[in-house]
Amino acid sequence: MESRTVDDIFQDAIGRLDRAAEYADLDGEALERLRYPKAMLQVSIPVRMDDGSLKIFQGYRVRHDDTRGPTKGGIRFHPNVHPGEVKALAFWMTCKCAVAGIPFGGGKGGVIVDPKQLSRMELERLSRGFIEQVADFIGPETDVPAPDVYTNPMIMGWMMDEYSKIRRRRTPDVITGKPIPLGGSLGRDDATGRGAYYCIKELERRRAWKPADIRVAIQGFGNAGQHVARLLHNDAYRIVAISDSRGGIFREQGLDIPRAIELKNQRASVSDVYPARSVCDCPICGCTECHCNPQDSAIGDVISNAELLELDVDVLIPAALENQITTDNVERIPASIVVEVANGPTSSDADESFARKGTLVVPDILANSGGVTVSYFEWTQNRSGYYWTENEVHERLRTIMVREFNTIYDLMTEKQIDMRTAAYTHALNRLSDAIEAQGTSRFFSNHIAHTPKETPTT
Ligand code: NAD
Repeated sequence: MESRTVDDIFQDAIGRLDRAAEYADLDGEALERLRYPKAMLQVSIPVRMDDGSLKIFQGYRVRHDDTRGPTKGGIRFHPNVHPGEVKALAFWMTCKCAVAGIPFGGGKGGVIVDPKQLSRMELERLSRGFIEQVADFIGPETDVPAPDVYTNPMIMGWMMDEYSKIRRRRTPDVITGKPIPLGGSLGRDDATGRGAYYCIKELERRRAWKPADIRVAIQGFGNAGQHVARLLHNDAYRIVAISDSRGGIFREQGLDIPRAIELKNQRASVSDVYPARSVCDCPICGCTECHCNPQDSAIGDVISNAELLELDVDVLIPAALENQITTDNVERIPASIVVEVANGPTSSDADESFARKGTLVVPDILANSGGVTVSYFEWTQNRSGYYWTENEVHERLRTIMVREFNTIYDLMTEKQIDMRTAAYTHALNRLSDAIEAQGTSRFFSNHIAHTPKETPTT
């Protein structure tokens, strides 16, 4: 991470609104409203550890804006969770839901913890403890959480169960990303990666690419990174590099992605919640140095995460954490297309360098909006009690992603702006319509109420 403090992430995120406001049809009051999160809660979560000791964890939940609907956004378990970061992530969710045109606002939560250091029982107690502390802040009609970094369907299931116990009724619609038997939606597990894949397929159509000619590098090989890799690999894209928190691998001929996924997801023991392996472990002996079998196409040269970003590829997909591309390294990134699957992987001051170099950045609020879109489908199914087939989910997601991608791409071309500014402009237009529908000073400063010319008759 560069010199900016993590506290600046929110201000940095908000700065992008100002840029987009120049192009949006916007009332100034609407812009002002979005500068401040609606509500923020900090909680202390006491957890009894397996050795009998008591540990207190700090957690946060932010509801940024709910003008377009209940707030929606993931819960992150990570040692670097910070209130400034949670606010920024909630703000991005507001913009993302507006981009996707779904009736939600933005929220986010996080707990400061290294979940890999917890046992299964400790993890369950922490997950339930977080919900106990935030139960009056969230709810199916107010704020609907979902998974994010290092949280998964099982954790969502525990959280839903805890909330249901508190409310003394079954509430599957309080949280999305649940296991399928507990009310999860088919197609939610790969929705974020799939949404990004549909964006890349639109670029392929517009630019008449041959997938086999396109070299791709993916930073982050968790839920989002693995699924976008799998779908692109199925279509014969050449994925030459992947990485996780311990480092990455590079193979010029392209990696065997299904095998890399299988290896990465192996657990050291059945009681592990998180994969113990890194993509840079040798599949045969487990070390990070040897090449036991160089013919094995899930093996590559070990590289660092920084080196992966600087590879000479056509498409770079950051799918890990925020602030990976900053003024420190942006000039050394040769990829002509960056598809932001992670939230906030590019700091705002690096945008200008990309624009100058002609790099097309498909921004996070569009590229990873597939996840929240299928979360919306899950919430809808929970509330109606009627469940869709996987094909229905994929087709409805594809329709939204293709529609919004092309609207934003056309806006970018028409206004001669970068794609991120176009995406924020599109989001601001939708947010502003909702805020203005409640009346702004443009309406209230005119004291005479207009009566309809004719009273409609039925
Ligand atoms: P995950 O926990 O499943 O995977 C995270 C991956 O990133 C892991 O492979 C981890 O090893 C790797 N990682 C962690 N620190 C890293 C580092 N410093 N350098 C490189 N890799 C690192 O999380 P996920 O759900 O795949 O989320 C990844 C990103 O996508 C996050 O920014 C998240 O906010 C965003 N996102 C996820 C979803 C979703 O539905 N899962 C939706 C929208 C956005």
